[in-house]
Amino acid sequence: MDVRTFWLAGRPATGDAELTVTNPHDGREVGRYSVPTAAQVEEAVAAAAAVAGQAAALPVHVRAEALAHVSRRLAERADEIAHLIMSENGKPIMWARGEVNRAVATFRFAAEETRRWSGTTQRLDTEPAAAGRLAYVTRVPKGPVLAITPFNFPLNLVAHKVAPAIAVGAPVIVKPAPATPLSSLVLGDILAETDLPAGMFSVLPIENERASSLVDDPRLPVVSFTGSAPVGYSIADQIPRKHVTLELGGNAAAVVLADADLDWAAQRIALFSNYQAGQSCIAVQRVIVEQPVYDAFVERLLPAVGDLVTGDPADEKTQVGPLVSVAAAERVEQWVQEAVTSGARLLAGGTRDGATVTPTVLADVPHDAKVNVEEVFGPVMILQRAASIDEAYALVNDSKYGLQAGVFTRSLDAAFRANRELEVGGVIIGDVPSYRADQMPYGGVKDSGIGREGLHSAMNDYTYEKVMVLTGL
Ligand code: NAD
Repeated sequence: MDVRTFWLAGRPATGDAELTVTNPHDGREVGRYSVPTAAQVEEAVAAAAAVAGQAAALPVHVRAEALAHVSRRLAERADEIAHLIMSENGKPIMWARGEVNRAVATFRFAAEETRRWSGTTQRLDTEPAAAGRLAYVTRVPKGPVLAITPFNFPLNLVAHKVAPAIAVGAPVIVKPAPATPLSSLVLGDILAETDLPAGMFSVLPIENERASSLVDDPRLPVVSFTGSAPVGYSIADQIPRKHVTLELGGNAAAVVLADADLDWAAQRIALFSNYQAGQSCIAVQRVIVEQPVYDAFVERLLPAVGDLVTGDPADEKTQVGPLVSVAAAERVEQWVQEAVTSGARLLAGGTRDGATVTPTVLADVPHDAKVNVEEVFGPVMILQRAASIDEAYALVNDSKYGLQAGVFTRSLDAAFRANRELEVGGVIIGDVPSYRADQMPYGGVKDSGIGREGLHSAMNDYTYEKVMVLTGL
């Protein structure tokens, strides 16, 4: 099997070591990739720093056309790339196709947004002392972006960092997750077809230790990290003077209020607790149901969970595939067993076959069980009863995390109350917390992170406002 090259300042390169990517479903080798040397990493950073001025001055039509090209080419190669995501990540092909479609949209939104991206003017003569003065405000790239990404969306989460960087005219160095670098390397192939200057992008599949020294590099003023909370906060601690965006984990809650459409809620919660085997930062983990409808909801939920198709991710019908590794599945299995040993009732699932865990539902979980307080990142949900809306919303907030929450209700009052009271970055009314549109602001509060992604938000994050005052007008 050929060894996959990486992207070094816009050209393909080979390092002096190789790593293997395996399919979590059957352990088969998917491919091998070359790992950059220290000198090559230095070359990529130097090139990004050298091209930063030219990148910032790139005409809008060049940036917009490059982004539109990436969107088109991802769409043209969608089937091939979806199969690659499926193989390296174990994600069922239906979700892998969905991820490619989202990346197509992410680049398309970026192409549109960069055309809208413009300065503003402000009259300053609101005070006599500033008569005849005008402020001209533009946004200027802070400089090259270091994009560190996780394994669970190996294409679209890379897109969420690369697309806004190109949109504002900032070079970007991608450091993909070691288990799933191949999709981002294909994205590099497509970026190389554009007219962007060499040095504007590199995709460096390097080890964590070397990534950690890149984090310190003063030539990379923006660090955009998506991954786990412990790694994210250690990066933030490492570089207190740099701009850091942290998109971290969660134990997302779905609330089912007494007025909800129970059939819809049960279908959506069953699916989105288990899609991608629960390996999404906004997968439904905690399900909080108002007492009067608890039994009726569980009656609908359990068959919906039982109907999920688990198995080979290559099968078009499979909804739940393996976790990223056998070790990850063993950890999830152990957390479920710990909860059961300490008094939880297992209503469904709880078994493991290799890297695959069956969709699992737990009730009466003790408060301090890991499946309640930590991020499970597996196909596990816990059921909680709430005597009132007050209690339901208090349970949502009883978490160190705060990414998104879903509230199933038909009441506008309950919806606005949720928006006021829930300590999260996004409240999804009438659906699961797992809903994300790629153009909307997205990110967390509490231990779920710092800053926001979504095209416009990330473009703001990668730039600073610069004001020029004109006098004598
Ligand atoms: P992880 O934290 O283990 O790794 C994320 C990335 O950081 C990887 O590329 C990894 O190689 C790199 N890394 C690890 N140590 C590093 C260091 N010291 N310096 C620099 N880079 C380092 O996360 P993961 O297991 O790949 O992904 C799962 C996590 O990501 C979950 O917690 C999930 O909730 C979170 N996530 C968050 C979002 C979001 O948008 N909020 C989206 C997807 C995933």
